[in-house]
Amino acid sequence: MKHIARKRLGQHFLTDHAIIDGIVDAIGPQPGDAMVEIGPGLAAMTQPLVERLGRLTVIELDRDLAARLRSHAQLEVIESDVLKVDFTALAERLCARSTGQETAAGRPKLRVVGNLPYNISTPILFHLLDHVAVVQDQHFMLQKEVIDRMVARPASSDYSRLSVMLQWRYAMDNVLFVPPESFDPPPRVDSAIVRMVPLVEPPAMDIRLYGELVQTAFSQRRKILRNTLGKWLDARGFSGTFDVQRRAEEVPVHEYVALCQAVQHAAPNTQA
Ligand code: SAM
Repeated sequence: MKHIARKRLGQHFLTDHAIIDGIVDAIGPQPGDAMVEIGPGLAAMTQPLVERLGRLTVIELDRDLAARLRSHAQLEVIESDVLKVDFTALAERLCARSTGQETAAGRPKLRVVGNLPYNISTPILFHLLDHVAVVQDQHFMLQKEVIDRMVARPASSDYSRLSVMLQWRYAMDNVLFVPPESFDPPPRVDSAIVRMVPLVEPPAMDIRLYGELVQTAFSQRRKILRNTLGKWLDARGFSGTFDVQRRAEEVPVHEYVALCQAVQHAAPNTQA
């Protein structure tokens, strides 16, 4: 029976075989990799991936699609909202059978892929950031505009909270452009594939504090930082040097990281 695409679940199914081959080549699946696909849908990417891997775990929220996928002998189907999946626990379980890269504790890591539902792509990226320690790499189809923001450099119009929240932890590049005609139904936007590889030696810092700092800085991104981040720094008793006469979009990632580390070590404000 033909599946009717559910808009609510961001369903746009890939139909262009040249594009699918290009994506699978960019991912480079190897037999034995502990790979997880988010939102397999009608298995457009799933099938060529599992042919190379031998076995693949998929996470699908749509009950009808999950039921179809369950009949595939080489797939493990997790019927769930991806935002509720504990990737650290999943890695523990899947990696017991894989031959991929290892964590510092000696356990192999997950390779995560997917043509993501665009309506929740940013929450998915942030959810996976919480589990980055168990991830080898990620390849995602996203709105091209979102990838432009992920990889943007300071002082460009795309440089934003998303750039600063991801670049401190991942090396990222845009590997393939995908036009709307590659899907059924076609989305109204251009798409692309991003490769995200966690940095081997990330800076040591409090990620919650970093998130708060970056959100405060970008709360009024076109204004100078004095009235936003400046006040936030004062409240934390920060007495170091940081030029707040700039706009959030002018500050490079390494300066946000250094500032977070300095605030973390600053004495708490006794007047607060
Ligand atoms: N991978 C397929 C393809 O490329 O043709 C389908 C991609 S479609 C853009 C997004 C897929 O994610 C759909 O299958 C949809 O049902 C699924 N999905 C949507 N929201 C989800 C969620 N919260 N958790 C898991 N899967 C979800």
